[in-house]
Amino acid sequence: MVGLFSLLHMGGPLTDDRGALIQQVKEANDIVDVVGGYVALRPAGPTFKGLCPFHDDHRPSFDVDPRRQRYRCWSCQKHGDVITFVQEQERVDFREALELLARRAGITLEKRAQSPQDRSRALMLEIVRWAAEQYHRCLLDLPSAEAARHYLGQRRLTGETVRRFGLGYAPAAGDWLVQRAGPAGVSLDSLEKVGLVALRQEGTGYYDRFRDRIIFPIRNTRDQAVGFGGRILPSSPFADRAPKYYNSCDTPLFAKSEQLYGLDQARSAATEAGYLAVVEGYTDVLMAHQLGVCQVVATMGTALNSRHVQQLRRFVPRVVLVFDADAGGSTGVDRALQIFVSHNLDLAVATLPEGLDPCDLLAAQGPEPFRAALANAIDALEFKLQQVLAADTNQGVEGRRRAVDAVLGVIALAPDLAGPENAIKQQLMLSRIAQRLALKEETVWARLKELREEVRARERRHAETQTGKAAESAAVTRSAPAAAEERELLEVLLAEPALVPVAAAELATEQIRHPGLRELLAGLYDLQAAGEAPTLDLLRVRMDNPRLAAKALDLQDLGRNNTDRPGWLRRILAEFRRKHQVEPRQQELKNQLQAASDHETALELLRQLQTPN
Ligand SMILES: [Zn+2]
Repeated sequence: MVGLFSLLHMGGPLTDDRGALIQQVKEANDIVDVVGGYVALRPAGPTFKGLCPFHDDHRPSFDVDPRRQRYRCWSCQKHGDVITFVQEQERVDFREALELLARRAGITLEKRAQSPQDRSRALMLEIVRWAAEQYHRCLLDLPSAEAARHYLGQRRLTGETVRRFGLGYAPAAGDWLVQRAGPAGVSLDSLEKVGLVALRQEGTGYYDRFRDRIIFPIRNTRDQAVGFGGRILPSSPFADRAPKYYNSCDTPLFAKSEQLYGLDQARSAATEAGYLAVVEGYTDVLMAHQLGVCQVVATMGTALNSRHVQQLRRFVPRVVLVFDADAGGSTGVDRALQIFVSHNLDLAVATLPEGLDPCDLLAAQGPEPFRAALANAIDALEFKLQQVLAADTNQGVEGRRRAVDAVLGVIALAPDLAGPENAIKQQLMLSRIAQRLALKEETVWARLKELREEVRARERRHAETQTGKAAESAAVTRSAPAAAEERELLEVLLAEPALVPVAAAELATEQIRHPGLRELLAGLYDLQAAGEAPTLDLLRVRMDNPRLAAKALDLQDLGRNNTDRPGWLRRILAEFRRKHQVEPRQQELKNQLQAASDHETALELLRQLQTPN
């Protein structure tokens, strides 16, 4: 079979082959199977329901329709077909989503020869996979990795753990990986792109970024290595001047602030346990898994944040944050409390005895004390309450006032969630605070309101200084809904590509004011001009915006409902001609807008411009 990539990249009239190939990939990947690989789905009548992977979902809002091969979230409104789902979920472009799905369905693909234009993430994944394999082989086999093997042995990590997590070693030479790239056909340019090598300052070639380090490949939930963490060997000559830990830089595959180490290995244990425990270090994760406590992941040197929570929520409703006894300082606890308040997540805090980190505790005492700490985790609010109560020995009025402000001050900073469930959660929290601090509930509510108003006033002052007139106008323009005839034009053309030349003969893309619709129309015109079929499938090959693609799919569905599409298009074009008559008035308004000197006038003109005639 002809390679998918070469087909996608070929110009000229191979339209049918390319379109057919995309169709083949779609048909081979049933949307219920694909989505079901990420989200637990339950049949509900003719469709399937599950927790939405794209927002912090607490009731199954996510609907997958096998007949239409579409998904939709009734809460955050994300929707589309199997390809947009993979695009959004894996954050890849159309081409790579297609490639992933093709591979999943066992459709054989020919790899493209490397070219300078080749910047696709599929290639980056391949490069990272190759590098991970090199480091891993090195750790297992090479004499130069003796010190690294010794170090891991000292940390009591077994060969099985090393293999399961694909640990590696980057030799000290400084050009070890660079030397291996050439013979393997890996370009240094692409290695630089994934953050593994860098150009020497003198410009005389490349050097390895990871030297004399234990390598921890970081994998996404599809078990693909996307980046690396490296720990310098304590015996290394660089140990005193290089950072102890070093991560590969952020790339399109890897964002340090969002990544969770070990999630690929922790998923099934987490489902069983009903929660995931979050620790801080790679070796904490490794040792926990080695001793059979597998529901453990780590953040990458950053505190738990909303992006982490969104990922974790896909798998479990509860997260246990593990603090070393001395690290349970106020910053960590306050952040945990804010996340607890602002997410539909059961967030608990576990502390370890004797100031040990999880790895030391596990290595010294086995899994039981660690398991007990996880089992005895208490929710973030309770943790904060115990902390302030312990800190304030003065139980008098002043002490209680300080205590309540310490707790409410943190809550006031968290974004306020809407919805009945959150109202209940808040009610429960505030009654608990009142009870524990021996205050009236009304007093606590009133104080929270005051503190929130203070926070909002601060934010308003900040926002006022930030937003200029231009930003506001831009926001107004963006949020303007599309005119009906613009929307219908795309509905009819996406449903019936044969009509694109009819529209192109009469209507210029500039006549479409809505930016998204204009982009779609321009794309269809471009395909037509290039002698290809102006279909949505082919258009999506060029599009990098899954939201717009999902929108286009909707428009196409709507268009397909109308059977007399040529007649419909004639009416739409007539409407454009009619509107064109009033265009001079619009132009006049636009000129005035450009000349407008004050904000009020500009906003009024914008409003007039956007009012349908
Ligand atoms: Zn959603």
